[in-house]
Amino acid sequence: MNKILLSLLVILSANSFAQQRCGTTERTQQLSENNKEFSIAKQKVNAETTKWIENNPNFSVKTIITIPIVVHVVWRNPQQNITDAQIFSQIDVLNKDFRKLNIDTINTPTVWQPIATDCEIEFCMATIDPNGNATTGITRTQTTVNSFGMNNDPVKSTSTGGANPWPSDDYLNIWVCKLDNLLGYSTVPSGWNDPGDGVVIGFNYFGTIGTIQSPYHKGRTTTHEIGHWLNLDHLWENGCGSDQVNDTPTQEEENYGCPGFPHNPNSCGTTNANGDMFMNYMDYTNDACMNLFTVGQKIRMISAINQ
Ligand code: ZN
Ligand code: CA
Repeated sequence: MNKILLSLLVILSANSFAQQRCGTTERTQQLSENNKEFSIAKQKVNAETTKWIENNPNFSVKTIITIPIVVHVVWRNPQQNITDAQIFSQIDVLNKDFRKLNIDTINTPTVWQPIATDCEIEFCMATIDPNGNATTGITRTQTTVNSFGMNNDPVKSTSTGGANPWPSDDYLNIWVCKLDNLLGYSTVPSGWNDPGDGVVIGFNYFGTIGTIQSPYHKGRTTTHEIGHWLNLDHLWENGCGSDQVNDTPTQEEENYGCPGFPHNPNSCGTTNANGDMFMNYMDYTNDACMNLFTVGQKIRMISAINQ
């Protein structure tokens, strides 16, 4: 077959499946443009974070931090009303990834194994609701909305067909719904009172069983988005910019699929022969190819929790 025609076909078929991996950067930019207070508050958090890290050079976690989660399932058709078991499969992934108990930690390249770390953060389903009553930590809301976008967070309010959050000081709110061509997005810590605080994940990228879709079928979309929620940036922030983490190599752009190691050595004009840390949870590679957070990322997340 004609080579040009063939590559055209490849491009067309790739585009028809195009899903944006993560909307967090876009949402954060929009908020910054529309709210000066947000922008200032976020800069302040980053300055505080730098200070906290400098002041705690030998920090160690004394007690494992456990974050209670409420999952708001917002569904239009019964398939989107995912099972409790599917939700628990996601919590299981989080507790493995953030404690470095994931079995694929053995796939971290040898050079980075010393900095692949147990973040000492755990997650549980909420057991008490905001009224003090026993709960499974799951709410279920039927909607007439076909699919949700990011603009103004429609999934986060009953008035727009979604579900209201529980108080963000006490819970990590996660909404699971059908999203418009997007796997997930999160708010970032800012000290600014963001009414939408929390994480939103497409119902076909949440957990490891049920409605999930390969190659994003191992729960890593939620691991990635909670990374943002705890103040982690993408490794390529602004393209060759800094994710404000010293032990992650500078990277030119996001990676997809499942590259071989080393990938993009000496990118961004560096002499880093190991190339991109494409298997980091804060990249865009396939779920099966991600396997670590670094020590520097852990300190940033612990600092976010401590502020
Ligand atoms: Zn992201
Ligand atoms: Ca870095």
